[in-house]
Amino acid sequence: MFDVTVIGSGPGGYVAAIRCAQLGLKTALIEKYDTLGGTCLNVGCIPSKALLDSSEHYHNAAHTFSEHGIDLASPPIVNLPQMIARKNKVVSDTCAGVDFLMRKNKITVFHGFGSFNTANQVKVVAKNGEETLVDTKNTIIATGSKPIMPPAFNYDKKRIITSTEALNLPEVPKRMIIVGAGVIGMELGSVYGRLGTQIEVVEFADKMLPTMDADLGKELQKSLKKLGFNFHYQHKVQSISSDGEKTTLVAENTKDGSLVTLEADYTLVAIGRRAYTDGLRVENAGISLDERGRIAVNEHLQTANPSIFAIGDVVRGAMLAHKAEEEGVFVAEFLAGQKPHINHNLIPGVVYTWPEVASVGKTEAELKAEGRAIKVGKFPFKALGRARASMDTDGLVKVISDATTDEVLGVHAIGPRVADVIMEAVVAMEFRASAEDIARICHPHPTYTEALKEAALDATGKRALHI
Ligand code: FAD
Repeated sequence: MFDVTVIGSGPGGYVAAIRCAQLGLKTALIEKYDTLGGTCLNVGCIPSKALLDSSEHYHNAAHTFSEHGIDLASPPIVNLPQMIARKNKVVSDTCAGVDFLMRKNKITVFHGFGSFNTANQVKVVAKNGEETLVDTKNTIIATGSKPIMPPAFNYDKKRIITSTEALNLPEVPKRMIIVGAGVIGMELGSVYGRLGTQIEVVEFADKMLPTMDADLGKELQKSLKKLGFNFHYQHKVQSISSDGEKTTLVAENTKDGSLVTLEADYTLVAIGRRAYTDGLRVENAGISLDERGRIAVNEHLQTANPSIFAIGDVVRGAMLAHKAEEEGVFVAEFLAGQKPHINHNLIPGVVYTWPEVASVGKTEAELKAEGRAIKVGKFPFKALGRARASMDTDGLVKVISDATTDEVLGVHAIGPRVADVIMEAVVAMEFRASAEDIARICHPHPTYTEALKEAALDATGKRALHI
């Protein structure tokens, strides 16, 4: 009998298992695939960032080296099989690291598909059909998510693809259609756009990154247009088809009802992800799903059955690896009798395009809708010495604080390395800092972090120094 059984080994599940084991709980982990690490390590965060880094090197070699005074003897050539092989090695090394952590923490790993027999028994069916019954006092469901793919989109995994296939293309496409101007579409579009692919984005909404602060999408759009992206906003996809060599997409312009037909080598559908509970047989454990098919949980991430918890992409909230990890630690500590806490308002979101996009707290539109009186400070990277030195002058940092108390309520940034800069804002907001606090902290010069200080200065009485 295990104290805890975790179903799913993504960043939510494997981190939950480690924390349970650290707290002295006898822990099992069940994973249906051969490798541990879930979406994030195998087909998500890690491989996409590996390809983003490689394609950025190529793009710089082809387009910015000469301005830095580095003339290449001949134009750089993309070696996509090598790029993908390097990415695969990064993935396999990272997954092997999780195997090591499971052994180190004496966690029992079962490879096979897990489903509830009862609330306290999970059946695991291995690939060879062998069945194991795992008896457990508590269970943590961490089964993650899968891409949303309407049947009418004729997903064939070859020409009509999701992010999973886009991480392993056999050649650099001449032309690629991306359905959805969200995070995953813009990241993978950047990979191929930098390698020379003509990207056509088809989006139902009237802007990109619709859940982030509006300034960020506007700025990112300018940068992606420089890479050659074309955007078709307010277009509703009617059909996608493939003849094996190319794909054809028909979309309706929702403003005037006209039809647009686009052709490309590949169509990448990136319109979001759905909670994955297929085959889990939650009904045998007395658990219910919410209106969007996610496992319904209370504030302790506990399901309708108090011994069963759920975390990560399979429950409400942002579909992000670090959110899943925090929830994994939360449940482990709750089970061990501690009183853990997560501030879901302070889970940062990052888009690893170039410039990077990063955000924490509430957007200007959300705060205005709440009727909150706010102050907004902005600082553009083009006014920053560090950004001019590296030729990364696109973007800005925006600090929003309460008009009366000056407490920072949101920080939204697009620019070089803002994925790292945002962490200063997260720390500040966790300690409920004011914009004045950030403005008065000495920041090292020259760094990208000075843009955050300058935006905070701008928010507190329009006293930015370098503009
Ligand atoms: P998952 O990582 O999805 O893991 C769930 C695991 O459960 C899987 O391994 C699955 O096989 C297993 N499983 C499911 N059902 C069963 C069953 N019945 N029995 C046994 N095993 C089962 N997030 C970020 O924070 N930063 C990023 O940069 C980022 N980039 C991304 C890029 C891409 C292309 C994609 C697709 C996603 C990206 N994400 C990123 C999102 C991130 O990958 C997810 O939020 C994260 O993986 C969720 O973790 P999880 O543990 O909830 O689930």
